[in-house]
Amino acid sequence: MSSPYNVITVSEGFHVIEEGVNVGVRMYLFEGAERAMLVDTGFGSGDLLALCRTLTQKPIFVVHTHGDGDHVGCNGSFDEIYLHPADFAMYTAYKGSSRGLRPLYEGDIIDLGTRRFEVLYLPGHTPGNVAFLDRENRLLISGDPVQPASGVIYMFGQWRNMDAYICSLEKLIGLSDSFAVLYPSHSELTLTPDVIPQVLEAARLLLSGRVEGIDMGAEKKYRLFKCGGANFYYDKY
Ligand SMILES: [Zn+2]
Repeated sequence: MSSPYNVITVSEGFHVIEEGVNVGVRMYLFEGAERAMLVDTGFGSGDLLALCRTLTQKPIFVVHTHGDGDHVGCNGSFDEIYLHPADFAMYTAYKGSSRGLRPLYEGDIIDLGTRRFEVLYLPGHTPGNVAFLDRENRLLISGDPVQPASGVIYMFGQWRNMDAYICSLEKLIGLSDSFAVLYPSHSELTLTPDVIPQVLEAARLLLSGRVEGIDMGAEKKYRLFKCGGANFYYDKY
């Protein structure tokens, strides 16, 4: 069976792991001085731990951008897993267990020796959504909240909160002097910070009710809203 994964090495000790046809989801592996940090575990369609072992021999811990199913698929292979507690309920409902989960909070510093990440709490897409900011290298592992119009941002279902999401985008714009590049979990491999105000404008347009949605899925539980700078799956109207 061929591997569902594709690896892109950005720099020494910094690997992007893409999973699925047309890059369904993306993970990030950073090798530190003594341990390695894996951001998310994807859909779970392959042996992610075995793949990581070809890239690093250091002990691996997992940090999650959030607890959606397409980001936690291989968690059974890992023992040390960090997630913002506001996503614990969602995660446990989906996975049936909270095995291995440890809390992660706004302002936490993850020091790998080779680089440092600061946790930014950005709720809205999920209650416990976070991003990881490396100020020294001016990069942000941004997860799902920021995606350009080539992708779609999922904002339907019980765990989404549009108002919190908009506040989080505003917070990110306030911090955008701190990074030059974003690495999102879906769509393009890299984005520049100027995409964030475009996504914010699109989110505000969505909430204005002026965009006509297109029914999606057999049960029509949500609709696709094309809002210029970004697209959303949304279910409120
Ligand atoms: Zn996702």
